[in-house]
Amino acid sequence: MLVKKAYKFRIYPTNEQKRQIAKTIGCSRFVFNHFLEKWNDTYKQTGKGLTYNACSAQLPQLKKELSWLKEVDSIAVQTSLRNLSDAFSRFFQKQNKAPRFKSKKHPVQSYTTKQINGNISIVDNKIKLPKLGFVRFAKSREVHGRIINVTIRRNPSGKYFISILVETDVQPLAKTESAIGIDLGITDFAIFSDGQKVDNHRFTANMEKKLKREQRKLSRRALHAKNNGIDLLDAKNYQKQKRNVARLYEKVMNQRADFLNKFSTAIIKNHDVICIEDLNTKGMLRNHKLAKSIADVSWSSFVTKLQYKADWYGKTLVKISRGFPSSQRCSTCGHHTGKKSLGVREWTCPACHMHHDRDVNASKNILAEGLRIVASA
Ligand SMILES: [Zn+2]
Repeated sequence: MLVKKAYKFRIYPTNEQKRQIAKTIGCSRFVFNHFLEKWNDTYKQTGKGLTYNACSAQLPQLKKELSWLKEVDSIAVQTSLRNLSDAFSRFFQKQNKAPRFKSKKHPVQSYTTKQINGNISIVDNKIKLPKLGFVRFAKSREVHGRIINVTIRRNPSGKYFISILVETDVQPLAKTESAIGIDLGITDFAIFSDGQKVDNHRFTANMEKKLKREQRKLSRRALHAKNNGIDLLDAKNYQKQKRNVARLYEKVMNQRADFLNKFSTAIIKNHDVICIEDLNTKGMLRNHKLAKSIADVSWSSFVTKLQYKADWYGKTLVKISRGFPSSQRCSTCGHHTGKKSLGVREWTCPACHMHHDRDVNASKNILAEGLRIVASA
């Protein structure tokens, strides 16, 4: 099966390459905003918008007038225009809000360029990019497939990243005849029906503690600036701390993403049928905001990864609907024991006297329900 895959790496541009990236981002933004304005004006005057082709035909003239537009990757500029027309198409199909002007102040600055006639290629630990030449990157894994496009991004922390979109052929994985149920939680990220638990904080606990401390420091600096009548944009200490926080947050999220990638692949490799709760069931989250936001992002990203990997590799992911009372039933005898407060971590079934770990019991029920759904499908 031909599928699209995205790889993300950190890149290490030289100072000259950084200047060129900044220029290209600037030109892409300029072209986007320029045609967005024209598009809006035309719409106001005629009740009809423009088209990609109409705008594209104006590009050469624009480049004649503004010669600096010629100094950057022309495909990136063209892609920016394409993105604008796509945004308008989605808007007219009511899938999106109307496109908005791109701001220099947006924390993440990026541009996208396409692979045409080998203008983008990977050689060892360097990637060749139009107008930039070879840029060193942290190649943590091999890139397989045909490169479609790349997006170069500058994060608020001042680091540079590249997303490489490729098209590649994937083969189904060998069948294992195994099925598993998974319950998602806060203390443990995932609890398996075979009793295995994956600690949520194994990888990022220290980082999260640190992140919280740095965020408090950021609030203090914001308050300090406000009390002294300094605009936040001019508050040096605040801005410096803001970058620190962004850098830490990025590190936490990258560690998470890496973990979730490996974890989901292992599950898909080891099992043919994977049963999991629908995420909406998790309305019960207490806890402070940070842990929650990170857990939320991780859960949905985890389920997304499981879903596309199951599709790629010929496995089955079954989502159990939110109404299913996974924690109210004895997984051994089926006895209905009713709702239990969150504090109840273990209990004994009054009917069959089996002693249960709350979460493992839930994941066993999820597995049984998933298998029932598969059998009746
Ligand atoms: Zn029982």
